[in-house]
Amino acid sequence: MTIYNLGSINADIVYRVPHLPGAGETLSCASMTRGLGGKGANMSVAAARAAARVVHIGAIGPDGIWAKDRLLEFGVDTQHISVPDTDATGHAIIYVDDAGENSIVIYPGTNRQISTQMIGAALSGADPADTLLIQNETNAQVEAAKLAAERGMKVAYAAAPFDAAAVESVLPFCDFLILNEVEAAQLEHASGLGPDKLPVRDVIVTLGSKGCRWHRSDTGESRAFPAIPVEVVDTTGAGDTFTGYVLAGLDRGMTMEQAIAQATRAAALQVTRLGAADVIPDLKDIQGAAF
Ligand code: ATP
Repeated sequence: MTIYNLGSINADIVYRVPHLPGAGETLSCASMTRGLGGKGANMSVAAARAAARVVHIGAIGPDGIWAKDRLLEFGVDTQHISVPDTDATGHAIIYVDDAGENSIVIYPGTNRQISTQMIGAALSGADPADTLLIQNETNAQVEAAKLAAERGMKVAYAAAPFDAAAVESVLPFCDFLILNEVEAAQLEHASGLGPDKLPVRDVIVTLGSKGCRWHRSDTGESRAFPAIPVEVVDTTGAGDTFTGYVLAGLDRGMTMEQAIAQATRAAALQVTRLGAADVIPDLKDIQGAAF
């Protein structure tokens, strides 16, 4: 089966700083790296590293060909990534402090230039057993969710960054929703519904170092899964790694419990590494991990 991921592709420019800069503060930093990032690209890489077949649907500017090449190196199918010459590739300026905390500014660039035709072309070969994954760093999420639902595909939604209007429009098509604690609170504020009351079959709320909670609406069950304690270096991409791994696990026939267990290991390893997509662990790394 295949995961079709309509997702952002960014250049992540990461600065290591002693502390996150305050208003009006100028800081000198110890190091700077540029790598592949964006929630979409991170999730595609994570799912591919977890051995799923992944087709990425997205857009980069002419300055972003390296990012497409990088996705291909990770085993992601890149034939539905377009290269409009009307804007630059999306990028993120990321500060990471000595405690591993981060603060991020994103320029969306071509991530907002995805057409319904592109999505239709990508999904024309999809099977009802396939999954569409979407986040909120591109345009056209609702159109994509509708198209996928019409084809009988499962729709998985990582509702980040939080956008109340997007969530309201996409939720009716959703089979699987994943969001972090802050986004879950924002959704509850906007909709009046807690994660256990949403009209979506499976809802996972990730809780950082506290793990995650899975709510299943058909049985009313709710289960907590602890995180694995590790020494944190950089939490960038933890949630994306977790999401890609959960979906890949489900796509490959695991139960939700098995998929969450493997994703928890992958995300724990990810937070011990500096960077995003470039350092997402593969299945061998997880098997070899000291925990
Ligand atoms: P980010 O935006 O930083 O990528 P997020 O806010 O989307 O992350 P989190 O809830 O922070 O997502 O983390 C996702 C998962 O990653 C958690 O459920 C947990 O399994 C793992 N994780 C995150 N932080 C830690 C940590 N400090 N130690 C161990 N595991 C962690």
